[in-house]
Amino acid sequence: MAKHSKVKGKPRERDKLPLQTKVLVWTESGYRCAVPTCRTILVQDMHHIWEVSAGGGDDSSNLIALCPNCHALYHRGTIKAESIYIYKAMLVAITRAFDVEAVDRLLFLESCKQDFVVVSGDGLLYFARLIAAGLARMDQKANNNWQIVTYAVNISDKGRMLIEAWRQGDRTRLRKVMAGPVPGGTLKK
Ligand SMILES: [Zn+2]
Repeated sequence: MAKHSKVKGKPRERDKLPLQTKVLVWTESGYRCAVPTCRTILVQDMHHIWEVSAGGGDDSSNLIALCPNCHALYHRGTIKAESIYIYKAMLVAITRAFDVEAVDRLLFLESCKQDFVVVSGDGLLYFARLIAAGLARMDQKANNNWQIVTYAVNISDKGRMLIEAWRQGDRTRLRKVMAGPVPGGTLKK
């Protein structure tokens, strides 16, 4: 059995990661599991995308928040390394392009029936960045007697394709939807 190795006197067990790094990675995934079909809240586990044994570092860019269940599924091979990489790339892309809440707003819109979300002008601001990026769309509803204008917010076709590719961990489809390279380059294996 291998001894626990220390690199330059620095312990490599994941529970020894600096709190600052862990908070960064948890914040990136909104304190939820990074697997889009899971999203369990209050995630504690931290997974090295490139395994420590393969030379992966403790930088936040190499870490992803997984719930214990998804972590186990990864180690059993049910969740592929390629998918984990896509989940991370998506979280980084969405949280940097928008904000942490955009991830859940998009997943929320995707779960709603057509025209279920009806908001006022103020409410529209919550979805403004997703709408501007073409991931959601809005339709003005008729003015009612009190002159209050409301808007139906729906996920766009592009938004739906994005979520499908994300859930499947499908890099090629994701690239097509985003119309650009997936951040981070190629997956080293
Ligand atoms: Zn999970």
